[in-house]
Order: sequence, then C-alpha cells, then structure tokens
Amino acid sequence: VTTITATLQQFKQHLADLARLSQAAALLNWDLETGMPRKGAAARAEALGLLSGEIFTRFVSPQTAEALAALTAPGVTLDATDAALVRVTRRDYDKSQAIPPALVREIATVAGQAQPAWEQARHDNTFAPFVPYLTRLLALKCEVADIVGHRGNRYDALLDDYEPGLTAAALIPLIADLRRELVPLVDAIIDRQQSQPAPAVPAVPVEAQRALALALLDLLHFDSDAGRLDASAHPFSITIAPGDHRVTTRFDVADFRSSFFSVLHECGHALYELGIPAALQLTPLADGASMAIHESQSRFWENVVGRSRPFLAFVLPLLQRHCPALAAWSADDLFRSANSVRRSLIRTEADEVTYNLHVMLRFELENELLGGRLAVTDLPAAWNDRCRALLGCTPASDREGVLQDVHWAHGSFGYFPSYMLGNLYAAQLTDALRRDLPDFDTLLARGDTQAPLAWLRDRVHRHGRMLEPHELMLRATGSAPDSRHFLAYLRSKFLGDARS
Ligand code: ZN
Repeated sequence: VTTITATLQQFKQHLADLARLSQAAALLNWDLETGMPRKGAAARAEALGLLSGEIFTRFVSPQTAEALAALTAPGVTLDATDAALVRVTRRDYDKSQAIPPALVREIATVAGQAQPAWEQARHDNTFAPFVPYLTRLLALKCEVADIVGHRGNRYDALLDDYEPGLTAAALIPLIADLRRELVPLVDAIIDRQQSQPAPAVPAVPVEAQRALALALLDLLHFDSDAGRLDASAHPFSITIAPGDHRVTTRFDVADFRSSFFSVLHECGHALYELGIPAALQLTPLADGASMAIHESQSRFWENVVGRSRPFLAFVLPLLQRHCPALAAWSADDLFRSANSVRRSLIRTEADEVTYNLHVMLRFELENELLGGRLAVTDLPAAWNDRCRALLGCTPASDREGVLQDVHWAHGSFGYFPSYMLGNLYAAQLTDALRRDLPDFDTLLARGDTQAPLAWLRDRVHRHGRMLEPHELMLRATGSAPDSRHFLAYLRSKFLGDARS
C-alpha cells in the first residue's frame, strides 16, 4: 500500500525532473538570444523542439494523472503548500491535456512560419503578405479557446493563460475608467512639460554603460553570485535554475537611458524569482503569480523607483562617475530626461503615462478579432483609427502601426493586458508599501532599497504561484485591483497634486 506521503514524494520527484529538463531548455534559449552563432539557429530550434516535446509528454503522462488523482482523493489532507502545489499542477495539467497534440504541433509550426513572415512584412512595410499567417494563427487560437472552454467570450480562455481568473468582462470597465481619466491627463501633462524641455542626451560608450548597469544591479541587491548580466537584441530576464538568474540589456551609445531603465526593469523580474522560497523550488509553484504580477515587479523598480525624483537625485553622481558626458546635468535635468511624456506611435518607446493607451488599443482589437467582429484584412485601418482616437497620432506606415509588435506572430493573443495591469498593480502595491514605509522617499534619496525589497519579498515574492493574482493583490494591498492608485500616482508625480 502506497501511503500519501510516498505518493507526494514521488510526485515531487517527477515534477523536479520536469523542472530540470526545463532548466536545460531555458539555458538553450538564453544562449540562443545572447551568444549563439547565427548558423546554429536551425539545429538549436530542433533541439529545443525535441526537449519541449519531451517535457510536454512527460507532464501529461499517466504518472502525473495518477498522482493528482491519489492526492485529490476524498479523505486526503495536505498542508497549505502541498495543497497549492496539487491545485496549480491540476490546473496546468487539465489545460495541457485538453488540447490535442496535433493542434499544439500545428500552432508551433504556423507560429514558426509566421514570425519570419512578420519580420519580412515589417521590413517591407506592408501588411498584406502577413495576412494569411495571422488569419491561420487566429483560427487555431480560436480553436484552442473553444476547446479550453469559456462562457461566451473566447478572449477569456486565452487571457487565463497569462492572468488566471481574469475575464474580458472585468477588464472592460477597468479600461473604460482608466481611459476616461488618462486621455485628458496626457494633454495636461504634455502641456505642462512644454515649458520645461529635457536636455539633449549625450553619447555614452558601451563599456561605461555596462559598468553603470552592474552598479545599478548592485544597488538593487541583485545577488551577483546568483546571476549575471549580458547583452541581447531585446532585453529579457530568465531563471535557469535556483541560484542562476540572468538578465540582459541592450546598449545604445546614442541613448544611455535605454539600457539604464531596461536593467532596472529586468532586475525587477529577477528579484521576484530570487525571492521565491527554497521550499517551492523545482515545482510549478516556483514562478510568478501571473504575467501581470511579474510585470508589476519590473515596473516598480523601473518606474516607481527608477524614474522617481529621490532615486534619480541619489543616482546622479554614480551616473556621472561612469558617464562624464553627463557632468553638467542637474538632478532636475535627469528627472526631466527620464520622464518626458509625448504622443508616440511605438509602444516599447512609450512613457509611463501614455503606455497604457497603447495596451488598450491592442486589447480592443484582439478582443474583436477573437470575437469575429473584426477581419484580419481590416486590421491596419482599425489600428490607425484607434491610434488616432487614443493617442492623437496616426501611423504613417504599417511598420509604425499594426506590424510593430511580435506578439500576434507568436499567437500570443491575450498577453498585452498584462503590461497594463502590471502598471496598475505596481502603483497599488506602492500605496500599500507607503503605508508601512512612510519614509519610502527618504530611503530612495539615500539609495536604500533594502526595506522596499523586503516588503515586496514578504507581500509578493515569497508566495510564488501559491495565490491567484486577484487574491495576492487583495492580501498585499487590502483592496481589489483598480486604476485609481495608478491615476493618483501619475497626478502626483507629473502634476504635483497631493496624494489621495
Ligand atoms: Zn517585463
């Protein structure tokens, strides 16, 4: 007779083996983005395909199913962590199991073709050749949504992959509230900033920027014995294994701010994973609660801390030591340079005030695409109309419009709201943090990030994936997620209004 203790132990061993296979895949992916010679791409794709297939097959195997059945049988009691482990694994298992392997393979194949097609279309600045790929991917994702199940809106089934428990119906009023306030707020802020333009940004050599990046990681208590920094075309953060957390940045000689804020952002993601307790490691609980909670951690360090007046004033001498070209800058210059707000076409270059408007545009369009209310061929025109309405500017070409993001070419519909929610969550968490640390600004002015980090570790990091995002926010902040904290944050920072 197998006891529950033995079953649980075997189950954890099985999950740990899967986690170790995922470590190998993560390392291959990291290398692919940071150092792999271009000609290794085809072989690497095959190796990764084999490895992810193996991980998937082992995960949906009878071994997982039997353990889950035994551990959820009537009369079995588990402690809170083990109960969460079973619940989260069950959820992942049911989702993975539901989709036929042939459909999974087809999506991977079409996405594999769609990405180069998207790159070519973007290069040629024409949407039409991308239409068949996007149409096919959309149809496949609709199929997935219908299999996984939803209550009338396919968007919910896909959104659930990134933000468990959230629905489009809950998102729509949140966005409407935010939009109503944000659009006039952008006008007011741009108006105010016109009289105080930011200084021109001098060139800063890559080596100086690299040294600065390492100093910033140090300042944020990123453990250099448990992580490293490299350069890549697109900055990212990846956990290879417990004790091995890697961040990347992109150095732009003409604009040091790009790497400066990317490092803070990616470090925020890494700090989250560094804060997940040992007891959860090598299980599906050793991850963020959701994409948006993860993004709240990166935005906290990048924007709330990194673009704040006290932190920038503290960091200026450090910046000037590494970048003598900035010797004449005042703390005010740096603050203005880090916080200039403008109507722009490109999401990834947007400031923290206009950023969420870019996300709303994408949410509305993908919600309509998945609901069959918008045809792929009409997408560029719909994009441009929305862009005009939300941001007050119109793309001159598809490259600056509908072709700017890779997400849809990956089939990642439902991902974009995570970015917006991350901003809202970061502001809401900061308000709760300020209640416990009323001297937050004073700490930042001294470059002391220890106490805010400890607060985040306690309220967010240590839970890993044990709590769903809504529950985590409720416990960490005392209220359900909303947009008013974020709006108050923007008003206070950009218009100098008293905090509500
Ligand atoms: Zn991020």
